[in-house]
Amino acid sequence: MLFGYPIAATAENWLHECLGQILQAIHSNLASGNISTGWSEVISEPYRSRLHRRLKVSEKLNPQKLSLGDKLSNYQTSLKSLPTSERDRVLKAFSEQNNIALLLSGNCKCDAITDLPENIHKPVKALFEAAFTLLTDLEIRDQHYKLIYDASVCHTCPFCGCEYFDAPGAPREALDHYLPEHKYPFAAANLRNLVPMGNKCNSRYKLAQDILRKDDGTRRKSFDPYNHGTVTISLDKSQPFAGAIGRTGEPLPKWEIDFSSNTEEVSTWDDVFHIRERYERDVLNEAFNNWLNGFRSWCRDPRKNIPNSDQEWVDEIESYALYHDSLGFEDRAFLKAAVFRMLHRHCQSGNQRLINFIRDVVVM
Ligand SMILES: [Zn+2]
Repeated sequence: MLFGYPIAATAENWLHECLGQILQAIHSNLASGNISTGWSEVISEPYRSRLHRRLKVSEKLNPQKLSLGDKLSNYQTSLKSLPTSERDRVLKAFSEQNNIALLLSGNCKCDAITDLPENIHKPVKALFEAAFTLLTDLEIRDQHYKLIYDASVCHTCPFCGCEYFDAPGAPREALDHYLPEHKYPFAAANLRNLVPMGNKCNSRYKLAQDILRKDDGTRRKSFDPYNHGTVTISLDKSQPFAGAIGRTGEPLPKWEIDFSSNTEEVSTWDDVFHIRERYERDVLNEAFNNWLNGFRSWCRDPRKNIPNSDQEWVDEIESYALYHDSLGFEDRAFLKAAVFRMLHRHCQSGNQRLINFIRDVVVM
């Protein structure tokens, strides 16, 4: 991803933490032969009051309308039927699936739900699905989104840099389960595992892919959205006039897209979100001629002189690249800057055909 989210946005993770305390209590009660449904006694104020009503177990179970307490009760019942060693594995999976930072950096592993006894699958999924929904009802989700939105100047999806996020209060953006919930349901209500994501990145590319494993099942490292610096794009190795024919009849550059670091995390990001493919097909090939026209307008500003020598053209292209660098992630400027940095590099090293081409775009 291009940049990360502030970890402070995950501070109000109290629902996930309360569920952890309740699960611990269920497991230790069962270990000492007790059954209790006094879930709210396990958690402290002010969360006890906020969850009290939802933690009650219904007298008559209506399968269409189970409370969080009913789902905890179903979890407890399923767990009771397991031998101690299997119960311990379930609790360990809860803990390990939530070691988000260590899992993403490849420094620990965890069981997926499918590694655990089958009769626990449904109750766990139902419980944590309900908890995820509660994040909206309890306004935790909107508060989390607002903190992330307000911390960013450009309000763009960091997974592609091209999709704009709507302001808080608009219909909600996707909130991605970074570790997918169908495999790691215990992390489904943990803000540390939940990331606002543009709808294209979420619904067309990431889908239910496992960020921790490749398609063949091998482990992979992945960016931590809440502990991540900035990645920059370089197109410097692209070859002018060596790509597909553009709309003007001239060949486009043959794009070579490089990232400022060449790590396994970058490969995972590219594999999952199809970054290189999308940039080349949807942005660079489509926008190249429009961006040259933008450079034309920049050079033809009546307050300026049109460059007069090869060196002046080279300098003007560099100024244009630097201007777009200064815009950061605003309006795909980071990609436009990379294009003009590449053009500058080739012109500076004496690509006369390219200098003539750019001059013709401006003056013709
Ligand atoms: Zn996106």
